[in-house]
Amino acid sequence: MTQIAEPPVTPLISESALADRVRVLGEQIQKDYANRELVIVSVLKGSFLFAADLVRAIDLPMRIEFFGVRSYGAATVSSGEVQITLDLTRPITGADVLVIEDIVDTGLTLTYILEQLRARGPRSVNVCALLHKPSRAVKPVSIDYLGFTIEDVFVVGYGLDYAERHRNLPYVGVLDQPPKKP
Ligand code: 5GP
Repeated sequence: MTQIAEPPVTPLISESALADRVRVLGEQIQKDYANRELVIVSVLKGSFLFAADLVRAIDLPMRIEFFGVRSYGAATVSSGEVQITLDLTRPITGADVLVIEDIVDTGLTLTYILEQLRARGPRSVNVCALLHKPSRAVKPVSIDYLGFTIEDVFVVGYGLDYAERHRNLPYVGVLDQPPKKP
């Protein structure tokens, strides 16, 4: 099989640090959502690994939905103009929704997602994000459950990509040749 050379990635958050944090988040969510009708909304593609691990750390009855959005494409410009690429399969009216996001950067994508979901009449909408870059915030968004706060670096791995690559890395790392910002 031909190997394609990838730009090097420097590890930032190890596999075991991710697993430890996911376990703690799962315990918190399990406590907070006991006796409620939990609907997980995993935002694709970036949150797929985080969501897969997190739901296994929450011992509660739940429904799992996927919401596909495209914000960056191959470039890295967050315009806030988000395209829905995959919609929920069922209504969320009256449900306690927990949105699972990979990373909150400017906050524009999450703001758009929350507007879309709130318009569908859920009982509550909370957010669980793996990563947050507070230094880049444009729209303030409240994150109810947060994995890690990071500096303004471009990260890949554990679901996060650069031009669709690196999603399968089991850890979060910094791309050594970061994509240029506008
Ligand atoms: P925002 O709208 O908050 O600026 O951007 C959120 C989205 O941008 C994330 O869901 C993710 O797809 C992408 N993004 C932001 N920062 C990074 C990063 O450091 N690495 C990767 N791979 N994607 C990022």
